[in-house]
Amino acid sequence: MATCPGSLILHIDDTVMGCTEDDERDGCRGRDLRHEGDPVRCWMWTLMSCNYCGVQ
Ligand SMILES: [Zn+2]
Ligand SMILES: [Zn+2]
Repeated sequence: MATCPGSLILHIDDTVMGCTEDDERDGCRGRDLRHEGDPVRCWMWTLMSCNYCGVQ
């Protein structure tokens, strides 16, 4: 079964914001696939506040 080598980037309610592979050349293999990395929170990935989560 295929997996994505990246980590899902999740909002605080576990809504998927993206994948750490999105910025790579190959991109994310698919949001529905199992991701090999531990999920990261959106604000930890962007190092900015998130309007969706209301985190400053
Ligand atoms: Zn967020
Ligand atoms: Zn991915």
